[in-house]
Amino acid sequence: MNDLLTAAEYAAIAKMMSFPENAFINGSFRPATSGKTFETVNPATGEVLAKVAACDAADVDFAVAKAKEAFDDGRWHLQSPADRKAVLLGFAKLLEQNRHELAVLESLDSGKPIRECQTVDVPDTIHTIRWHAELIDKIYDNTAPVGSNALTLVVREPIGVVGCVLPWNFPLLMLAWKIGPALAAGCSVIVKPAEQTSLTTLRVAELAHEAGVPAGVFNVVTGSGKDVGEPIGLHNDVAMVSFTGSTATGRKFLRYAADSNLKRVVLECGGKNPAVVLDDAEDLDLVAEQVVNGAFWNMGENCSATSRLIVHESIKEELLERVGAYMREWKMGDPLDPENRVGALVSIAHFEKVKSYLDQANAEELSVMYGGETDKGIFVEPTVVADVGRDSRLFQEEIFGPILSVTTFNSLSEAISLANDTPYGLAASVYTGSLRKAIKLSRDIRAGTVTVNCFGEGDATTPFGGYKESGFGGRDKSIFAHDQYTELKTIWIDVSDRSVDETVR
Ligand code: NAD
Repeated sequence: MNDLLTAAEYAAIAKMMSFPENAFINGSFRPATSGKTFETVNPATGEVLAKVAACDAADVDFAVAKAKEAFDDGRWHLQSPADRKAVLLGFAKLLEQNRHELAVLESLDSGKPIRECQTVDVPDTIHTIRWHAELIDKIYDNTAPVGSNALTLVVREPIGVVGCVLPWNFPLLMLAWKIGPALAAGCSVIVKPAEQTSLTTLRVAELAHEAGVPAGVFNVVTGSGKDVGEPIGLHNDVAMVSFTGSTATGRKFLRYAADSNLKRVVLECGGKNPAVVLDDAEDLDLVAEQVVNGAFWNMGENCSATSRLIVHESIKEELLERVGAYMREWKMGDPLDPENRVGALVSIAHFEKVKSYLDQANAEELSVMYGGETDKGIFVEPTVVADVGRDSRLFQEEIFGPILSVTTFNSLSEAISLANDTPYGLAASVYTGSLRKAIKLSRDIRAGTVTVNCFGEGDATTPFGGYKESGFGGRDKSIFAHDQYTELKTIWIDVSDRSVDETVR
């Protein structure tokens, strides 16, 4: 349900809100073993919202022990598929009943505009949980064609205890992309939210427990990457880590796996996503609208954000004029006001990083066509930088902020070469009136998702993840995500005449 409230109604919810502070382990909230806490702030105002448990390896050990206990005694995965489905559908219903509170909590903790939280993050989170719940009693296992002397069953079994390590940019949605398939498969999870945005994860775990997800199956351990993420990565009783975050941290999880139990690792990492606009694109208004949406939605703090506009030289000026016109609709300000589409960046540290790219544009004497200003040390105006060369840092590096670089081309092969000329390969968009060219670009661009004449990430039915340094080991979303949280087992049964004879004798 996408029902927006007024700014005054959201402010009233925010005023009444109480914030979860403790880790959630084995079905209840508990402080860090060390008693330590860290502050989580509303980035838009600097106000401290809560002092959250600063957990460490001792808490990870405890949570993993409880998750393993829950997995080993089968209190979740041995329930009938229909029963587990009913619990997860009840969980989705509880999320829906609390949708306004969750949207406000998400906005306060991350700086995201309430409009997005209420119309995208929360409903997509609920839909994801529901979609995977529905899958539970619809996936069949297989038999193999081995002849009449044997019966083979090729079955999926839940992999065990799964560590889900999350980023701060879509705290609720990334949580759902992990726990939806993991819980559906029957795993126990240890979730580590990003330290900037722990609050909605804690509340969601509480609601899951209320809906009937048994104690120990859904645990949340809050704290830093070093103190919580690393011990999860190195734990010998964690069978898999599903990670979303930067490529630099993703690499560390591969090392942790190598240094411990060879746990399965699935990484969803960064992106530097191109929108390629050919000179035969049919509707430049539509292209401009999609490019603006792709570049500035969620303040560009989006792994699949359009961060490079690669446009045919002959239509550059016309397109950029329209881009400028659409950008005027994107008001920046108080995230809790549903009129605003651009909120605060997630933290002062991240603001400084994004601002450094504005400084870089100046240092490279690039032309800032629109935007370029900052406000209150935490807001960054949607910005368009023209004539960016392929060697520029603005072209090559993931900025994760509302900065769009523009580069031109003169031939299809140049467009493809530009699109592929970064270490990333997460998403891309192409705009053309020619089906042949659309297919050629879709095939030649090395990215996990290519959208044609639109910007998007697909939906719950389509896999999402990256080529090259944008990902490793699998995909989020869709039935393919479900498979990642399972092991395949072959059961080979002798049914030859010989065995029948022996039984009869
Ligand atoms: P990050 O890598 O800094 O942190 C991600 C998580 O890893 C956090 O929970 C953090 O605490 C933890 N972590 C940090 N250092 C760690 C360490 N040494 N050991 C173990 N854990 C550690 O990323 P971020 O800044 O939170 O998120 C932004 C990044 O996420 C961007 O690069 C973005 O592209 C990526 N992202 C990718 C997708 C996708 O689906 N591909 C989706 C959203 C975000």
